[in-house]
Amino acid sequence: MTRPERFQAVIDYFKITRPEAETELVFGNPYELLVAVILSAQCTDKRVNMTTPGLFAMYPSVAKLAKADYDDLFAIIKSISFPGNKTRHLMGMAKMVMEQFGGEIPMTVEELVQLPGVGRKTANVITSVIDKQPNMAVDTHVFRVSARIGLTLNAKNPLQTEQQLIKYIPTELVHKFHHWLILHGRYICVARNPKCAECGLKSVCKYYHTVIKKQVIREKK
Ligand code: SF4
Repeated sequence: MTRPERFQAVIDYFKITRPEAETELVFGNPYELLVAVILSAQCTDKRVNMTTPGLFAMYPSVAKLAKADYDDLFAIIKSISFPGNKTRHLMGMAKMVMEQFGGEIPMTVEELVQLPGVGRKTANVITSVIDKQPNMAVDTHVFRVSARIGLTLNAKNPLQTEQQLIKYIPTELVHKFHHWLILHGRYICVARNPKCAECGLKSVCKYYHTVIKKQVIREKK
């Protein structure tokens, strides 16, 4: 199977099984998504979604967040991983948005990565979710699942994964493909013991053919 054929098979599969794939973070506008994505670094979406309603009630806009008191904000997000860093990042992000971007969340990767707490992955998420820009955010799930299926070959880091994926995914599907791989990695192709028996991508998955299938045959002998 060629790489383009493998990509097409994966697209066909997800179009049927997950036609409405989208982020599991709860948000109502670009400001709320940016806050939620900053909080979600090394933390579950579930935990973030439990925290953000209180945060948005107290700081309903980026202007309010820019005037936050460190201790007040820390108290709201203290159950999230790295609360100290994230408190500083949120305050710094809000101040910079107010001072340098006129209170509007910028919508290009180049501008977003200037904000405290915002790296390339976060910027790609914001621009692809809000604006459907063809930017591929690579997190641990996307990195692992792409490699296992054989969508990427010897990608050494998230940037190489991003570049290889972008090459083969039709532009209009990039924003969706990101969620497809994340959700697949979160619920089926999990890090330890992927649930291959119930995975609909077995027939096109490199990892399944090179590792799992041989394992099954050995166990039967
Ligand atoms: S067959 Fe297994 S390794 Fe391949 S994508 Fe499915 S769960 Fe992941």
